[in-house]
Parts: sequence; C-alpha cells; structure tokens
Amino acid sequence: MKTIERIYINGEFVTPHGTETFELISPTDNTQIGTVRLADEVDTREAIAAAKAALKTYSQTTPAERIVYLQRMYDAVERRQDDIIQAMLLEYGGTLQFTREAAKSCLAFIGSNIDLLKSFKFQQRLGDSDVLLEPLGVVGIITPWNASSGFICSKLSTALAAGCTAVIKPSEMSAIQTQVITECLHEANLPAGVFNIVTGRGEIVGNEITLSPDIAKITFTGSTAVGKMIAKGAVDTMKRVTLELGGKSPNILLEDADFQTAIPMAAMLAFMNSGQACVAGTRLLVPESRLEEAETIMKATVENLKVGNPADEDTAVGPMVSKKQYQRVQDYIKIGQDEGAKLLVGGQGHPQGLENGNFVRPTVFSHVTNDMRIAREEIFGPVLSIISYKDEEDAIEIANDTNYGLFAYVSSADDARAKRVASKIQAGRVAVNQFSFDLVAPFGGYKQSGIGREYGKYGLEAFLEPKAIC
Ligand code: NAD
Repeated sequence: MKTIERIYINGEFVTPHGTETFELISPTDNTQIGTVRLADEVDTREAIAAAKAALKTYSQTTPAERIVYLQRMYDAVERRQDDIIQAMLLEYGGTLQFTREAAKSCLAFIGSNIDLLKSFKFQQRLGDSDVLLEPLGVVGIITPWNASSGFICSKLSTALAAGCTAVIKPSEMSAIQTQVITECLHEANLPAGVFNIVTGRGEIVGNEITLSPDIAKITFTGSTAVGKMIAKGAVDTMKRVTLELGGKSPNILLEDADFQTAIPMAAMLAFMNSGQACVAGTRLLVPESRLEEAETIMKATVENLKVGNPADEDTAVGPMVSKKQYQRVQDYIKIGQDEGAKLLVGGQGHPQGLENGNFVRPTVFSHVTNDMRIAREEIFGPVLSIISYKDEEDAIEIANDTNYGLFAYVSSADDARAKRVASKIQAGRVAVNQFSFDLVAPFGGYKQSGIGREYGKYGLEAFLEPKAIC
C-alpha cells in the first residue's frame, strides 16, 4: 500500500494545503494499492510563486550551466529505471514490453535536449537585427496518466533547456510514477523552485494554472476535450499553448505491401500500451482486393496475442487503466456491432479468467466504413477498425477524412511510393514501413490533434520568445 502525502514546492517535499485524498486502484484486480493526498488552489499558487521567484536567476543561466542540470536529471532518472517500470506496471497496468521502452524514453527525452543545447543558437543575426530567443517564463506542464513519467521528463527537460521554470500538474491517476520522478528530480539537486509538482484534480489545480497571470505558457498532453478547455481559458492572459491531443491514426497498407510483416505490425500499432496510446494506428486501410487475406492474417495474429498480467514477459495487452475506461471500451465494441461492422475477433466482456481486472478482449472489426463512430472517435483501448479502399487516391481520402491528424503509417514494397503517399497525409508524423519515434524531428498534431510541436529544435523554440533588436 503506497501512501503519497507530499507534493513538491520550492526544492522541498511539503504537506499540501489540500486535504482531499484519492484512492489508487490496481487495474489488474481492482484492489486498492494506495492513496494520494491532492493539492488544491492554494498549493498551486504557492508553486507558481516559487517558479516565478526562481525564474529571475534561472532564466539568466547559460546553455552550459543548463546542460549540467539536465545531465544530473538524466543520471538520477537512469538510476531509477527499474522503479519507473514497476510504478507503471502497478499503477496503470502498462505491459513490461511497453514500460521498459517507456522508461528508456525518459532518458532519451532528456538526452536529446542535452544534445540540442550543445549546438542551439539562442541569438541570430537576421537582416539588420539581432534576434534573441528568450525564455518565455513560468511554464505550466499538464500531463495524462499513460506514460506520465515520460511526458514529465520530456516537457520539463525542454522547459529547463530553454531557461524556463515550471509548475507540473500530473494526472492524479499517475501519483506513483510521479513520486518516483519527483524523487529523481530532487536527487538531481536543481536550483530550488525551478520545478514544482502539484498532483491534483484537473478542474482545481489544472484550472488554476490555466487562469494564472503568472504562467506564460502551458504545455499539455491529454484529451482533445480538455485541450480545448485549456486553450479557451489560456487566451484571457494570452498564454502560449502547446497541445498534444488525441488521435485516430490511419495505417495504410498499399497493395504491394508484404502483409505477413505489415499485418502483425498493424496489430502492434493498434494495441500498443493496451490500445491506450495517442499514436495508436486504429484505422487499418487495406485494398479491397486483399481484404480477405488481411482478415485471415489479422485474425490469426490477434488470437495469438496474450492478454493478462502486465508483468509477464509475453503479455501484449494488459488491463484498461480504470473500470470507467473498461466500460468505455465495452460501449464502443457494442456501438461497432450495432453499426453493422463485422466482428472479426474479440468482442464484449472480459477474456476468460480475467474477470477481476479491467481486461478487455483485443477486438478487430472489418467492413468498417469511415463514417461509423468506431472509425471516427478515439476509443483509447484495443479496438481496431479495418476499412477497405478502392485505389491509392481513395486510401488517401479516407485517411484524411478525420478530425484528427497526429500520426499515420504507410506500408509498401516500394519506399518511394510509400513516401509519396505519406506526403499527402494530413498528420504531424507519418511512419513509413516501420514505427519510429525520432526525438529530433517535430512531433504534434494537425487539426484537432493539437497545436504546436514538441521535440528537437521546434520543441525548444516553443518555449522561447523571439526578440529583434534592430
Ligand atoms: P485527460 O485530458 O482527461 O487529462 C489530462 C490531464 O489534464 C490530467 O492531468 C487531468 O487532470 C488534466 N485536466 C482535466 N481537466 C482539466 C481542466 N479543466 N483544466 C486543466 N487540466 C485538466 O486525458 P487522460 O485521460 O489523462 O489521457 C488520455 C488522453 O490523452 C487521450 O485522449 C489521448 O489521446 C491523449 N494523449 C495524447 C498524447 C499526445 O502526445 N498527443 C499522448 C498521450 C495521451
């Protein structure tokens, strides 16, 4: 049983003013695994004040000094890799396969910002002017529960690289991961106040950050619905916003693709992090002429996926984070059936023997049309829709016929052809014949998948305000 009773303000673990406690429930068997005491508005204002005070000195540090801080953060996070993995397994049922990669990615995020700082030019000569890129100020970082340790490492290391200070509001459902990361950051011995962590409710702590005149920017990862609320609230104080939101990513298999490779990869892309991934490829587009073949390979692939204890090496799909999320996925499976899609594999209910946890059956629908709700709405669970297309042009049209545009995937035997199709897809990233997570290239969404970009130079620039001295 974990009891998390303290938040982190101005370089210290402190008891929050807030008194509400939130139960942490295991998604694997729905027993209580801990409690977290939540921060409130008073705590949030204190955290913002500490970040504002620290900004005066921290914003004046040189890139070389920031590299030293980030390296200390990197070393501390590296020492706790196993604890990060264990926290993710326990807290939201992330599979070992996924959490190992997620823990490594915490380091990769910090490392890529260290590399970037070695060459990034904070001052340039353009025309008759010196253009200075100055830190924006105090940044509000609001993160979701899925892989929250990675989001904190990514966003905070970018803010610190830019010379900003931060107030972090992680999801209340990720308090155990947050505790491990907070301990790492404390151990890194960064200057007091440069980062503050206030775990609390979105409508309380998140709202206070959104409205505060002392916050210059919000970087948010989460649902499109909450992203819209934050954008609306932020405009009164003209905050900058970077919003990384939901997705309904298309995965196009061109007719020359090798289905023996592409279909198992499509299942992996749809079901990664048990389907609870913003980048999941949840719409699989296959040529009409090869639909039957795609169905046969997909059925065999998914029937062989192990659903169960996330801590087992061979588990591919773990539980949904909460009972509520379990029910949401069940509702969508029913909607798919009611809409007349063909249930190829999976379906409603728990897999046999896993009734105590939030486990769902990995589900694939075929004969889905792009106007069905299961093809349009983000489900955030292991539910894949196969949609057939007539020709390349039709595939591109279906892929782009969505409110989202975070990620897309294209497979073909001909790389040049796949890249040509990729160039026509309205998405912030299109992966060709693979799943790659390049931390130097920009990441972010077209359309309702967000505003702005993270990672690399584009990500860093989003924490800087350009000033021209003419
Ligand atoms: P969520 O939007 O419910 O919550 C995200 C964060 O926002 C949490 O910390 C929450 O407490 C906070 N919040 C809630 N209401 C708020 C308010 N009124 N003001 C300020 N903050 C508020 O999302 P979730 O359920 O934690 O995560 C799942 C969602 O996140 C999915 O839609 C998924 O696609 C998205 N996501 C996107 C990315 C990406 O990089 N684009 C990555 C992971 C998850």
